[in-house]
Amino acid sequence: MTGAGIDGRRGLRRATGPRARSTVAFPCDTHVHTRRCGHAGGMDEELVEAAIARGLGAIALTDHAPFYWLPPEQRDPTLAMSFEDLPRYVEDVLVMAARYRGRIEVLLGVEADYIAGREEALVRLLEVYPFDVVLGSVHFVDGWLVDAPSSLARLDQGQAEVDRVWGRYTELLIAAAGSGLFDVLAHLDLPKKFGHRPSVPFAGRQSEVVAAVAASRCAVELSSAGRRRPVGEDYPAPDVLRELASVGVPFVLSSDAHVPTEVGFGFAELAANARAVGVDEVLVFGRRRGKPVSL
Ligand code: ZN
Ligand code: FE
Ligand code: FE
Ligand code: ZN
Repeated sequence: MTGAGIDGRRGLRRATGPRARSTVAFPCDTHVHTRRCGHAGGMDEELVEAAIARGLGAIALTDHAPFYWLPPEQRDPTLAMSFEDLPRYVEDVLVMAARYRGRIEVLLGVEADYIAGREEALVRLLEVYPFDVVLGSVHFVDGWLVDAPSSLARLDQGQAEVDRVWGRYTELLIAAAGSGLFDVLAHLDLPKKFGHRPSVPFAGRQSEVVAAVAASRCAVELSSAGRRRPVGEDYPAPDVLRELASVGVPFVLSSDAHVPTEVGFGFAELAANARAVGVDEVLVFGRRRGKPVSL
């Protein structure tokens, strides 16, 4: 991309409506990480330029929120940004949003962990900043990261342990959905990441998961991240997607990109799978409200 500043200024004078909308390939990538979390690469500009190059109408930067439930000395700088980094992150994204206005919408988002019993601390963190979208994730199951390679020691113990992990994960997921903290539930069936399936989906509680999500105000992300993992399958699994769609749960499109080349990854397939179950619109968030946009 050359002449970004000039294009950006011209874009500001133009309406952001019909022209931009009619030419976008996909409405938004709602889950993108930045370098601040310590395990992602690329500059903010590179992420946004990648989104423009893929024809996206919007990109939400949703880096990992500081680990609010841990004492400072236990916060791993390779897993999430620090509390000190958070105001700067917010400022950087808002500056980016202004700079790219008219070319692409840049949304201020965050991916926050659901930790049972620590809801108040997260409320206090979230209320400080003008977030457009808050992703809720259950990565931590009783203190260990269900999606980290270090969890393989546990998941590889056998099916009984896999089922136990899924049972506990599902309990936390249902609580996260009902917490009212989140706009979007991320990677809904995350413990499958390395290929560990439960004997029965969601340890026998899939219909409870679907009911909890439907009763919440949360959207669910259609995420292509699982396709890049050992499991080789999008989040959520096709039958879960079908059930959620049948009860009218709204969706967003997500890559969970950790590098610019992953922005918008697999969106054509995500959209095709959504349309196959009758979903023809997704939400694009702004100031924590979702607006339906056709897919
Ligand atoms: Zn990450
Ligand atoms: Fe996550
Ligand atoms: Fe993520
Ligand atoms: Zn994630």
